[in-house]
Amino acid sequence: MKLPNYVSGRWSEGLGTGELLVDPVAGDELASVSSQGVDLEAALQFARAHGGPALRQLTYIQRAELLGKIADVLAANRDEYFRLSLLNLGATQADASFDVDGALYTMKYYAKIGRALAEGKMLKEGASIALSKSNAFAAQHFLMPVKGAAVFINAFNFPAWGLCEKAAPALLSGVPIVAKPASPTAWLAHRMVEDIVKADILPSGAISIICGSARDLLDRVREEDIISFTGSADTAARIRSHANVLGRSVRVNIEADSINSAILGPDVAPDTDLFDLLVKEVVREMTLKAGQKCTAIRRVLVPRQQLKAFGDAVSALLTSMKVGNPRNSEVKVGPVVNKAQQSSCLEGLAKLKEECVVLFGGDENFRPIDADPQNSAFVQPVLLSCKNGLDAKYVHDVEVFGPVATLVGYDDLENLIAITRRGLGSLVASVFSNDANFIRDTVLGIGDLHGRVLVVDSTVGNQHTGHGNVVPSCLHGGPGRAGGGEELAGLRALLLYHRRFVVQGPANGIRQLSGWCVDTALLYS
Ligand code: NAP
Repeated sequence: MKLPNYVSGRWSEGLGTGELLVDPVAGDELASVSSQGVDLEAALQFARAHGGPALRQLTYIQRAELLGKIADVLAANRDEYFRLSLLNLGATQADASFDVDGALYTMKYYAKIGRALAEGKMLKEGASIALSKSNAFAAQHFLMPVKGAAVFINAFNFPAWGLCEKAAPALLSGVPIVAKPASPTAWLAHRMVEDIVKADILPSGAISIICGSARDLLDRVREEDIISFTGSADTAARIRSHANVLGRSVRVNIEADSINSAILGPDVAPDTDLFDLLVKEVVREMTLKAGQKCTAIRRVLVPRQQLKAFGDAVSALLTSMKVGNPRNSEVKVGPVVNKAQQSSCLEGLAKLKEECVVLFGGDENFRPIDADPQNSAFVQPVLLSCKNGLDAKYVHDVEVFGPVATLVGYDDLENLIAITRRGLGSLVASVFSNDANFIRDTVLGIGDLHGRVLVVDSTVGNQHTGHGNVVPSCLHGGPGRAGGGEELAGLRALLLYHRRFVVQGPANGIRQLSGWCVDTALLYS
């Protein structure tokens, strides 16, 4: 089966054999994808010429209603998405839920909060500014939805959530979407788009999907388009520096690699609530989706005197996490997505081992449950320990995109902050402590290099939303190495799909224009 592309309002199969999608447990070939022969110029032009105008005829609240209908259709097909997650990603129920239910929740969330924008078609920012003594000549800042297409180039690890978390704010803004899921796991995103198209919810041209290589897509984008990319830092650099993207100043949002940290405060002793909570969180982050989460904990910063106790506790819990075929009910940890990712993990792990000792895993004779090691793509969870954090290089540079984490000892606050900052810009850091001064100083020391800081003390306990869990009401994205992008954060996400401009003119005319606008203050409420 070759997954067809949906562009210019119709389904069309790409040419050639295409790229294969495989079952990472059995190694079987499942389907293929190809974008060869698809006219990408025409695809973007159709979205701009048909999808955009039809969406922008609607008000924000009408588009929020469309999102609600999309959420309903996706919810009705949830079982099928779980089936495809198992087949194409080797996802356990928990892994599939993280991606699929996360996608459904995000779509529903935007359908709900989008209603606050009511009947407006444009946004008005701040008060009008008098530019003449008589106040007859004034100025007003506005934000208008772009008239181009939103091009989504996504990573393999979140085919469902990656599509929905980008699609919801773009469609709510009135911008048509052209999704390009990662080839190895395109099936799930493809199926979601197929369901939305079949349900005939969106106007023609509002949604397109290209399965397979991006080919010359970046040569085809224009000034009014938006590129929203999620993936590796290497591909991000290629997209950012693409001649056509640079030449036309196409707006690009990048969500890339991240060496995230979790920090155990110096006040937290073994066998206390917070100590145990962080142990559980580290194990969850290592094993959920087999560690293939951009937000997963990669470094655990622990007071040097607690390294042994913390390593023992994490290792003890890891022994109960059975790795293998998710069809076996004992299994808690599935495979990585394919053999290429398995090799990439093992290469990265070899580098980390040069400057760390192995506390758990790393068994060369490791055998997954109910799976043939030759055909499958499993990586045994590995816990490492690094004594000299500031002397290490790979620990702060190499993102092993699998079930691997490294404990790093720290001596004092200054040392802790210096080590954390060696991530050079991350999506998230967690701080587990009951010491308010330590929390404050840590947040002040690292906040500028992180998109999100999760703080857990004993009053929060297990009510926290999770280190790796991205909630749509809060910011997702990080500076520096993490790409410098910003997504979600409630209605703030609409800013990516709007352009700010100012009108200077007669005060009356400005009042008239402002009449059909919604105040940007609503984006922050
Ligand atoms: P990747 O290899 O960089 O691929 C990402 C996407 O870019 C895929 O759709 C890929 O298409 C496409 N692509 C590759 N080369 C391209 C080019 N020259 N022009 C245009 N598009 C191109 O990343 P991945 O291996 O799928 O994903 C894993 C990485 O994503 C990890 O590093 C992870 O940290 C990161 N990630 C970040 C976030 C975040 O929110 N910050 C979330 C999830 C994952 P093909 O598949 O067809 O090659």
